[in-house]
Amino acid sequence: MNKPLIGVTTANRPSSSGLPFLAAYTKNITALEQAGSLPILIPCGLDRETLRAIYERVDGILLPGGSDIDPAHYGASPHPKTEGIDVPRDETEITLARWSAEDDRPLFGICRGHQLVNVALGGTLIQDIPDQVDTRLDHFPPSNVPRTHLPHEVRVEPGSLLARIVNTDCLQVNSLHHQAIEEPAPGLHITAHAPDGIIEAAELSDRRFYHTVQWHPEDLQHIHEMQQLFDALVKAARNGA
Ligand code: MN
Repeated sequence: MNKPLIGVTTANRPSSSGLPFLAAYTKNITALEQAGSLPILIPCGLDRETLRAIYERVDGILLPGGSDIDPAHYGASPHPKTEGIDVPRDETEITLARWSAEDDRPLFGICRGHQLVNVALGGTLIQDIPDQVDTRLDHFPPSNVPRTHLPHEVRVEPGSLLARIVNTDCLQVNSLHHQAIEEPAPGLHITAHAPDGIIEAAELSDRRFYHTVQWHPEDLQHIHEMQQLFDALVKAARNGA
């Protein structure tokens, strides 16, 4: 069977000596490989024509987690806790998110990727949950807590793409975010909430697979339902290949 190509976007990271590098979190790559795809990395900061040519070759897109999106993209000023703005990455991912929505190209957004899709399609973000939301849930535990820790549940909307993939109405999830979707983009359907109301998953319901989650399933590949999210992206990409 033909293995679909899944393009994974990358982040700008200076090395310890200050040299510029592009980086990708490898667990996304192993989850995509495990799902039967050919993962490839998409550099950020490319010329638009070059990016378009790469986009035309891939069968699906993964927008991974990462630092905060420039609030200028949703018409807000930076909150003091907003950090790590990566201008070429924002532009690359917003472009890919819009093209994929227009063309019905399968796309999976994780954490930052979930927020990025909302911004790309016209929504806004809560810039700092601890400062702006009255909640007892710990959406962003200290860095010594393992990424596999599951601090809260999410309620999954029956009948949604997410519900059909994981086949349950409640999931225990990890949580490594201090931002969240505030105003959903027009047409973006919210498919899971944390008990405090924070939006944890979304989809464009009339697309083959245009789906985002606020948690990190790549760190939870040992949980069947989490690997199934990657499997579902790859299946949709294969069907269009
Ligand atoms: Mn959370």
